[in-house]
Amino acid sequence: ATGDLILEVNNIEVVYNKAIQALRGLSLAVPKGKIVALLGSNGAGKSTVLKAVSALLPMENGLVTEGRITFDGEAVEQNAPHTLVRRGLFHVMEGRRIFADLTVEENLTAATYALTGRDIAADFDIVYRYFPRLAERRKSIAGYLSGGEQQMLAIGRALVAKPRVILLDEPSLGLAPLLVEEIFGIIARINREEGVSMLLVEQNASVALSIAHYGYIMETGRIVIDGPTEKLTSDRDVQEFYLGLS
Ligand code: ATP
Repeated sequence: ATGDLILEVNNIEVVYNKAIQALRGLSLAVPKGKIVALLGSNGAGKSTVLKAVSALLPMENGLVTEGRITFDGEAVEQNAPHTLVRRGLFHVMEGRRIFADLTVEENLTAATYALTGRDIAADFDIVYRYFPRLAERRKSIAGYLSGGEQQMLAIGRALVAKPRVILLDEPSLGLAPLLVEEIFGIIARINREEGVSMLLVEQNASVALSIAHYGYIMETGRIVIDGPTEKLTSDRDVQEFYLGLS
């Protein structure tokens, strides 16, 4: 069954600054072609999971002290984040991390630097097909785009890299509800039409579960509940504590 998984996180422990234990024996899996949601409140450790998967922890003084992460059957070592883009894993970080002084198109070009031998024009077309608004604004300075357009650009940068897995950290952050719905609709389409697997971190559980196939809920460094979306959304505790229903 392991062959059906694009990403596997097995029993990892992460410690920051040799003092703060952020993850405590956390395991999860992303099947090929699926959207998996990782939910939980502020500080639960969701972003830390994504940073561990994309080998970014050393930059923040974080250390995986236990466990193992596998991407497409191969171990992820914490020393070479740049090689992961080439292997097909792209991390859309929280807060959009685009180049504010560059144009939309320059931001997309920058995303291809880590790659080689790509048809750049064709790759841009993919982005503009999913995000027509970015096509209209291709010569605009990214820093002047609206919050929603900046999030679109952050996801567009991932698309240009033609990844097999996209890690998405809080794409709903700071956006109006209608825009969140629009962007999540597009994320779901990208998953379906491009076959890209996704690990989606969100505090907004209901919108995440509206597009995910499977969900994990975490608290203080561990998974507390997980299951297929239908099972989670019909669970009384999940409804009450995470979906704000009762
Ligand atoms: P948020 O939604 O705020 O991003 P989160 O669920 O993603 O929350 P993390 O950012 O992964 O949570 O943080 C998990 C724990 O690790 C928190 O206690 C946080 O304070 C701590 N932590 C995160 N990054 C660092 C760091 N660079 N140095 C020290 N501690 C950190």
